[in-house]
Amino acid sequence: MKLNHCISPNTKVNSKWIKDLDVRPQTIRYLEENIGRTLFRINFKDIFNETNPITKKTKTSINLWDYIKLKSFFTAKETTTQTKRPLTEWKKIFTCHTSDKRLVTNIYKELAKLNNKTTNNPIQKWGEDMDRIFTTEEIQKAEKHMKKCSKSLIVREMQIKTTMRYHFTPVRMSYIRKGNSSKCWRGCGVKGTLLHCWWECKLVQPLWRTVWRTLRRLEMNLPNDPAIPFLGIYPKEPNISIQKDLCTHMFLAAQFVIAKTWKQPRCPTTDEWLSKLWYIYTIEYYSAIKNGDFTVFS
Ligand SMILES: [Zn+2]
Repeated sequence: MKLNHCISPNTKVNSKWIKDLDVRPQTIRYLEENIGRTLFRINFKDIFNETNPITKKTKTSINLWDYIKLKSFFTAKETTTQTKRPLTEWKKIFTCHTSDKRLVTNIYKELAKLNNKTTNNPIQKWGEDMDRIFTTEEIQKAEKHMKKCSKSLIVREMQIKTTMRYHFTPVRMSYIRKGNSSKCWRGCGVKGTLLHCWWECKLVQPLWRTVWRTLRRLEMNLPNDPAIPFLGIYPKEPNISIQKDLCTHMFLAAQFVIAKTWKQPRCPTTDEWLSKLWYIYTIEYYSAIKNGDFTVFS
């Protein structure tokens, strides 16, 4: 196996890649002493650009064959994009400071920053709204559900967008734009939290009842739990067999029609739901054909 050596802005001039280029040691020494020790410095000084005055000097100072090889290396697109990438805070800490002085302080500062970042975890947000704490196993299930709920990328994207955009709830919007009302946009008069807008609102509940009724008709008796449609967290040991693919399609269709009527003062209709369901089903069918996977629909 040929290992692709990793080039970062801090890769030293005398590292493996230069050995691969088979450049003379005196050329490396010249670069180190006159231009810089890292690829970043060399790229930064742009010495392989013909209009640069240092170029002429470099060209005459090092072996011409070495010059050609290095020039093609530094002007290659994949090298430039990678070497021009700015340093991360971590790399700065470990590579830019000349001594170890204050090293511990700097590391500590960076760690403290990480700790301060408010967690922007949508699943946790759902948990807060539902007033429950998910186990690690449940969180993993939910994350897997987001990634695997559909074969089609379009459907997955819609799903993630609709469920994860809790910041578009009235409560969040009134917080962002002070003065906006935090009441549900459907006009039911209740505070528009994430859970309310998707599940609890009296103008959304009829649709969910239709979904549950349909599930019951298909002999799938699921508990009335929002974690099932939104996060894919099913009861641990259901005493009935659940066709998760079918459920997922029905839930997704409901989510989409709710999202579509987000600010309208009405309940999404059963017809809207069914047509969305049909649409998802069609998309899934074609993605399955494209992926050569017919098992779902056989
Ligand atoms: Zn409402």
